[in-house]
Amino acid sequence: FHKQEAILKASQVTVQFGGFKAIDNFSFRIDDHEIHFLIGPNGAGKTTFLDAVCGKTSTTSGKLLFENQTELFKKKEFEIVRLGIGRKFQAPSIFTNLSVADNLELAMKQDKRLLPILKAKRNGGEESSIEEMLKLINLKVARNQEAGALSHGQKQWLEIGMVMMQQPHLLLLDEPIAGMTEEEEEKTGHLLCELKKKCAILVVEHNMDFVRSFSDKVTVMHQGQWLCDGTMEDVQENDQVLDVYLGR
Ligand code: ADP
Repeated sequence: FHKQEAILKASQVTVQFGGFKAIDNFSFRIDDHEIHFLIGPNGAGKTTFLDAVCGKTSTTSGKLLFENQTELFKKKEFEIVRLGIGRKFQAPSIFTNLSVADNLELAMKQDKRLLPILKAKRNGGEESSIEEMLKLINLKVARNQEAGALSHGQKQWLEIGMVMMQQPHLLLLDEPIAGMTEEEEEKTGHLLCELKKKCAILVVEHNMDFVRSFSDKVTVMHQGQWLCDGTMEDVQENDQVLDVYLGR
C-alpha cells in the first residue's frame, strides 16, 4: 500500500520495432509531486518510454495506467494531452515572432485560430495565470520581448511554461538542460522544484550532477529493461548500475 497516489504506473511494457524490443517488459511508477529521472546508457529505451507514454509510439504489450484508472494503451496523442500529460519536445515549438507573454497565452488557449484576436483584452484569470507563469520561468522582465530573441535557456523555459499552461498532472521532459550554461542549469533545477508542487515530472537526463541535485527518485534502464530504482544514493551504489556505466 502506497500512501501517495500513483500518477503513472507502467506494468510489463514492451515496445517492439520489428523484431527488436526497444522496451522489454518494463515496469515503472511515478507518484504525484515527484521529480523522477530516467537514466541509463544510450539506446537503453528512455526516449522510447516517453514516446510510449505520450502516445507518439504505440506499446506492443503491457499496461500504462494513468491516475489509477485510465489505460493509455492505444490512446492517441491528443487524447493523452487532454487527459493531463504534457510533453516538451527537444525541437522548438515557440512562435518566434510573438512576445513571450503571447506565447504563453496561445499555449493556454491551444488554438491557433485565436492568433488574430490574441491582442484582445485578456480576462483577469488569464492575466494572472500568465503573470504567475512568467515569474516561475524567470521571464517576467522579458514578457514583451519577441520569443525568437530569447537565449537558448530562456527558450527552453518558455516551452516548459507553455506546456504547463495546459495544467498537466504529469510533465515529460527529454534532456531539458542540454546546451544550457551552468547558471541556466541551476535555474532549471529550481524551476522543476517549483513545478513539482503542481504535477509529477518525469525527466530523461544524462547529466548526473543535475540528477544528483534535483531528483526525488531515479529509475535506471538498460537494454530496454528495468535495472533498478530508488534515490540517487541507492542507485549509484548498485553493483549492476556500476557495471553498466563503468563497464566493469
Ligand atoms: P535512449 O533514449 O535510452 O538513448 P531510445 O529510446 O532512443 O534510447 O532507443 C532505444 C533503442 O530503440 C535504440 O536501440 C534505438 O536505435 C531503437 N529505436 C528507437 N526508435 C526506433 C524506431 N522508430 N525504429 C527502430 N528502432 C528504434
